[in-house]
Amino acid sequence: MYHMVREHINGKKFNSLRVFPAIFDKQIKYLSENGWHSFTMHEAITNKDKLPEKSVVITFDDGYKDNLTNALPILKKYNFKATIYLVNDRHDRDWSGYRKTKNKGAGLKDEPKLSDDEVRELIKSGLIEIGAHTLTHVNLSALGKDESYKEICKSKLLIEKEYNIICDSFAYPFGLYKNSDVFDVVNCGYTNAVTTKTGIADLKNCNLFEIPRITISGKDNMLAFKIKLKRGLRGWKK
Ligand SMILES: [Zn+2]
Repeated sequence: MYHMVREHINGKKFNSLRVFPAIFDKQIKYLSENGWHSFTMHEAITNKDKLPEKSVVITFDDGYKDNLTNALPILKKYNFKATIYLVNDRHDRDWSGYRKTKNKGAGLKDEPKLSDDEVRELIKSGLIEIGAHTLTHVNLSALGKDESYKEICKSKLLIEKEYNIICDSFAYPFGLYKNSDVFDVVNCGYTNAVTTKTGIADLKNCNLFEIPRITISGKDNMLAFKIKLKRGLRGWKK
């Protein structure tokens, strides 16, 4: 799970969401040179019974502009794919403070997001799948059932209409959701959903609507990256 591929901003919060382009390049190069096979989430789900042991899905949440300007050239260089979970209403919205109120106004609102044309460019590359991440990056766990249903289903419909694609992958914003949201994701026609629960996904055995991910932080060095690849997390406790 990635968010942004860009330089850090000194003194600002959320640098853990910003992976330096040079480091992202190193990480993808490592995967490529060590025999990892890259899939979009859609492809991984479709082929879940015959995936090679070293299979990886690179994901980006939210829809930041640098996914096109910084990440795509690196993905192209190694012919790696990715799934981007797009917030429909992503411009001028501040979701920095939902988890911790003290982070309100801490900068995610000012981060440039992808325009619709830029999303089309990503799709045209043939390396990118567009998934949904709700209309407004809401905390689904705090929302009533009707509102949640709308945030989950309408985001899929709008993405499909805007870009003329099938959108069947979903990511829960903040990794927060209630049981009924999982049913809504199924009922709306998605085939899979990712959480922010830490772990290596075994797609043959896990719930395809609560798939865990490995968080790659902007503060991870290569050793941390390699440990996370092996264990799902960096520390030693589980
Ligand atoms: Zn998000």
